[in-house]
Amino acid sequence: MPDPAGLARALHDLEAQGLRRWRRRLESAAGVQVRIDGGDCISFASNDYLGLANHPALKAAATAAIDQHGVGAAASHLMGGHHAAHDRLEAELAQFVGRPAALLFSTGYLANLGAITALVGRDGAVFADRLNHASLIDAALLSRAVHRRYPHLDLGRLEAELAASPAHVKLIASDSVFSMDGDLAPLPDLLALAERHGAWLLIDDAHGFGVLGAEGRGALEHFGITGEHPNLIYLATLGKAAGVAGAFVAGDRELVDWLIHRARSHIYTTASPPALAAAVSASLTRIAAEPERRVALAARIGELRAGLAGLPWPLMPSNTPIQPLLVGESEAALRLSAALWQRGLYVPAVRPPTVPLGRARLRISLSAAHTAEDVARLVSALRELAG
Ligand SMILES: *Cc1c(COP(=O)(O)O)cnc(C)c1O
Repeated sequence: MPDPAGLARALHDLEAQGLRRWRRRLESAAGVQVRIDGGDCISFASNDYLGLANHPALKAAATAAIDQHGVGAAASHLMGGHHAAHDRLEAELAQFVGRPAALLFSTGYLANLGAITALVGRDGAVFADRLNHASLIDAALLSRAVHRRYPHLDLGRLEAELAASPAHVKLIASDSVFSMDGDLAPLPDLLALAERHGAWLLIDDAHGFGVLGAEGRGALEHFGITGEHPNLIYLATLGKAAGVAGAFVAGDRELVDWLIHRARSHIYTTASPPALAAAVSASLTRIAAEPERRVALAARIGELRAGLAGLPWPLMPSNTPIQPLLVGESEAALRLSAALWQRGLYVPAVRPPTVPLGRARLRISLSAAHTAEDVARLVSALRELAG
C-alpha cells in the first residue's frame, strides 16, 4: 500500500500493467441502448437481466411511494425507520423464495457483511469457494473467524476441511451463480454436506434471483429445494435482475430475529428509501408473471453461444446471463474491449484482481431486453476481430 508520497507512482505502475481503472459515464437511463461518454452504444455490461430497471410499473410504484412517503427513510430500522413498505416487502420476499422470513439490507455487500459477522466469530470457521464474490471474502475477514478457501466447486476438499475443523460454529459460503464465471454451485450437494456437518450454508443468489427457476424465484426454485432447512441462509440482491436496489436474507424466523439483533450492517445504517421497497414489490409481480422475459433471455444466451463457437477466445461454460469470453492477458482484454467500443458495443474487460492473473476476460452480460439483432451485432464484431 502506498504512503501519501507514493500514491502517484502507485497509480502510474497500475497503468503500466494495464490495470488502471476508468469509470465510463452513463448519460442515459440504464438499459441496452445507452449513451455512454457521449456515444450511443449497445451495452452488454448491465446486471438488469430481465430489463426491469426502467419498467413503467416499477417507476410508477416508486414515484407513487415518493409522493406518499417522501424520499428518505430518515432513521435506521430499529430506530423508527422501518416503514410499512419495508415490512410488507420482507413478507413478500420470504414468500417469494419459499422461506419462513426475510430481512432487508441496503445492498448485497452489506447483507453479506451483516449475516456472516452475526453468525460466526473468532471461535468459528468460514469455508468459502475460492471464486466467491468479494463481499463474502470481506465478510469472512471481518468476522475474524478462520477463513478456509476451497478450490472452485471442489466439494471433496470442502468435506475434508469441514471434517478436520475443530471450530464450534462452521459456515459454508458460496455464490449460487459465480459472478465472473457464470457457472452454478451444486446447491443440493452443498446443503447435504452442511447438514451432515452441522454447519450453516449461506447461498449468495445475487445473479440467480429473478433469473433461475420457471418463475424466477432463484436458485432454490431451480434446484427444487423446499421444506425445512434451519441451517440454510438464502441471500439475494435486488439491484440486478429485480432492477432496483438492496438485498435480503431469507431463512428461519429465529435466524432473521437473530440478525435483527446482531447484523451490524442492518442495525447501524439508515433504512433504504421506502419507495425502493415499493418498486421491488412491483418488480416481484413482474418477475413471476412474465416468464417470457426468461424465455427471451435463454434465447439470447443460446444465440451468443452458438455464434461465438470456435473463436480463439473460449466462451466459459455457462448457461446464465453471465457469458465470459476468456482472453488471458489484461492488455489483450482491454484492446478487445476498446475495439468493440469503437463499433458501438460496450463490453467491459474484467482484469485482476477481480479475476485470477492471466484469466482476464470480456464479461458479456445478456438481458431479456437485448434483441436477437443486438446479439448478432456482437457476434459478427467479435468474429471480425478474431479473423
Ligand atoms: C453484486 C453482488 C453482490 C453485491 O450486491 P450489491 O447489492 O451490488 O451490493 C454480492 N454478491 C454477489 C455474488 C454479487 O454478484
